Amino acid sequence: MIQLIRGFKDILPGEVELWQEIERVARQLFDDFGFKEIRIPIMERTELFKRSIGEDTDIVEKEMYTFPDRKGDLITLRPEATASIVRAYIQHKLFAKDPVQKFFLLGPMFRRERPQKGRYRQFYQIDAEIFGVTSPLVDVQLILMLVTLFDRLQVPDISAHINTLGCPKCRPGFKSALQDMLMSVSDKLCSDCVRRRDRNPLRVLDCKVPACREALEGAPSLLDHLCSECRDDFAEVRNSLDKLKVPYVIDKHLVRGLDYYARTTFEIQTGSLGAQSAVAGGGRYDGLVKELGGPQIPATGFAIGFDRLAEISGLKPSDFERKPDIFVAALGEKSQTLAFEWSCRLGLIGISTEMDFSDKSLKSQMKRADRLGAAYVLILGDKELEEGTAPLRNMATKEQVSLPIDGMVDKIEETLRP
Ligand code: AMP
Repeated sequence: MIQLIRGFKDILPGEVELWQEIERVARQLFDDFGFKEIRIPIMERTELFKRSIGEDTDIVEKEMYTFPDRKGDLITLRPEATASIVRAYIQHKLFAKDPVQKFFLLGPMFRRERPQKGRYRQFYQIDAEIFGVTSPLVDVQLILMLVTLFDRLQVPDISAHINTLGCPKCRPGFKSALQDMLMSVSDKLCSDCVRRRDRNPLRVLDCKVPACREALEGAPSLLDHLCSECRDDFAEVRNSLDKLKVPYVIDKHLVRGLDYYARTTFEIQTGSLGAQSAVAGGGRYDGLVKELGGPQIPATGFAIGFDRLAEISGLKPSDFERKPDIFVAALGEKSQTLAFEWSCRLGLIGISTEMDFSDKSLKSQMKRADRLGAAYVLILGDKELEEGTAPLRNMATKEQVSLPIDGMVDKIEETLRP
């Protein structure tokens, strides 16, 4: 038997109802905050991700699904959505009418990571991006939206971690102070961090290797190196979060390695996921639109890990599962023909109906109705056809009414929707 690919998974009925509910709640929130949906291809030219995510990141170095198409062009299954959304924003000149645009996207991403709990090779993200606003207040709005979404989805034990990455003016000073410090602890760093120390020292700060974390305890903080604009900017973020009563912690190890990231960066963490504690991450990427060939337009956004969100939501798929409104237990050929016609007509008016097609005994049909959780059962056999009425039983209250076979669909509708 052919099995699915390692690190991939199926989302089956019984689980998918929760995914649908998460999607519904997220869409509602985006709609209320004026975000428009954008749908983009799951494949792009490899170059796009190399340039936007950066050559010396784990994603580009070892995790992308990249292959030549039949003509030899290198294409990649998207490992994240921001790059493609920025590409679309530039390609369709979406900034021409109004540079301020707000988008959201729901869909699969692909990274060839080591599969483990909470880490898949095809996983799903809920993504939001805001273009054209320099004010850090929109970063606050994004954090508020995240916290609200998690709250509505009953996610326990959530905390918002925030940091600032400074700007191209103040970051170089911090980088060299950090590099000096890293030189002094080089023998304690993992081999990846020794390499990062020279090429991308900020990334050493978010290394998860315990020895590196320990070595970095006395690392300088960017907060001590901010220029006055960045300091004011970060103060505004904190004040505004306070005003909106969004709790947060300042996490100086929260960094993004690339030069086009600037100022606010944030992550939503949860105590309920073990090692994979981040359920959403985001921040400002003021330099990316220009980097990818567009005008100098600032941008900010976030990505939520859908799979992890589904895992930690306090909501249960069974709360959203649609059960049949009615099960028609039909006995004999004539009854089945009639039951089939009714069930089709009921389905067309939104009354979900199931029936049995193999003329099983009444007992076994009743069992199935019970298993499916049908709200009502209508029993139809030769006796009922002869008498011209059939009993409709409310499975919860066990009350039974007798309905005329003539005009049955209308009668059922009247009974179910009084
Ligand atoms: P990132 O794009 O790396 O900032 O990730 C954003 C969010 O996507 C993370 O906080 C995770 O919740 C989720 N995520 C990233 N990689 C994976 C993965 N391999 N499997 C499941 N979720 C993931």
